[in-house]
Amino acid sequence: MLNVTILGSTGTIGQQTLDVIARHTELFHAFALTANSNVEVLFQQCQKFKPEYAVLLDANAATQLAQRLAKSGIETQVLSGLAALEQLSAHSEVDVVMAAIVGAAGLQPAMAAARAGKRILLANKETLVMAGSLFMQAVTEGGATLLPIDSEHNAIFQVMPSQKSKHLEDMGVKRVLLTASGGPFRNATLETLNVVTKAQALNHPNWVMGPKITIDSATMMNKGLEVIEAHWLFNASAEQIEVVVHPQSIIHSMVEYVDGSVLAQLGNPDMRTPIAYGLGYPERLSSGVSSLDLLKVGRLEFSAPDFTRFPCLSLAYDALKVGGTAPAILNAANEVAVEAFLAEKIGFMEIPALIEATLAQVSVSEVVSFSQLLATDLEARQCASAWLNKRSVV
Ligand code: NAD
Ligand code: MG
Repeated sequence: MLNVTILGSTGTIGQQTLDVIARHTELFHAFALTANSNVEVLFQQCQKFKPEYAVLLDANAATQLAQRLAKSGIETQVLSGLAALEQLSAHSEVDVVMAAIVGAAGLQPAMAAARAGKRILLANKETLVMAGSLFMQAVTEGGATLLPIDSEHNAIFQVMPSQKSKHLEDMGVKRVLLTASGGPFRNATLETLNVVTKAQALNHPNWVMGPKITIDSATMMNKGLEVIEAHWLFNASAEQIEVVVHPQSIIHSMVEYVDGSVLAQLGNPDMRTPIAYGLGYPERLSSGVSSLDLLKVGRLEFSAPDFTRFPCLSLAYDALKVGGTAPAILNAANEVAVEAFLAEKIGFMEIPALIEATLAQVSVSEVVSFSQLLATDLEARQCASAWLNKRSVV
């Protein structure tokens, strides 16, 4: 029996993780369930899964949850705050940590899991974008096992040679092909992109996901973040990572070898496949995902990404090439921009404008410490907020 901590259990990935765990109660126990402030959903999850611990970041929400659990006679212990998230990521009784908090908030608990040598199922790509070098170092030093859950990276992981080497060249790998659905605005003109609404941007054609990643998919920043994620996971340079738009989201990504072979992983777009892969690794587990019916899919299409209509993608490639703290600045500015777009304070094409302005203003340095990265994240957020304030005055 493996004890699992789910960071972000009330979110889209968190709920799908519990769905897979519920199919294999003889193998997995939800030891700790955690969320930001959603008392109702976390209460229901505690009722069903009876975890040892439940954590809400928000202290008031945690008090409410504790009262409701006590009334219902459920013995789950309730904690609150960032330190509790870190504690339950590193807890000696925990074997597996699903890192499924959204955004930079997921970094510190994921780092705690890495340092404690856990098996980490990493959905929170922002961890690698912000702190790739330090996180990968913590994984190695802590003796952790890192399994990518992002569907593209999970696909690449599955088709990489089983004997992993540090260098792609040594494994005969030429490059990785990262597929992208293209999001809801794949065919939209630049004029249309200037006026698209929040509701349109939240309407992803293939995947049901949390709001932040859904907007990231619409701007294609999601693919940009994934390019940086692939760099750290597979030690691939920006030149070795090619984005291919594939609207059906059936091929989840590919690896090209030097002999011309291209290996792909296919399946219906359902995150329970990579989640089950991560939970069961190296065994395979049933996940509840329906069989892929290629005859029904009919055709698989491919096209090149358009860097003009989707400038977020080039901003991310550029940040990767610049290196150092640039990806952390990109990530922080993007989080501020997406939040402002979701609050209907800025237009869709102002998202890349805000990120570009922030990148131009915050100076980039070599990554030397974790505290420096947190300070850079804060500085970039302040700079992005100042841009927003200035804009609302105009
Ligand atoms: P979501 O918004 O549905 O859920 C986010 C979860 O994080 C919630 O449980 C929320 O309570 C928790 N949370 C938010 N802020 C927090 C904070 N400050 N402290 C503690 N907990 C906090 O998001 P999601 O779609 O499940 O995505 C989660 C992560 O997985 C993201 O990094 C996303 O990029 C990645 N991811 C998601 C998908 C997907 O299909 N949804 C696919 C690939 C990768
Ligand atoms: Mg993805």
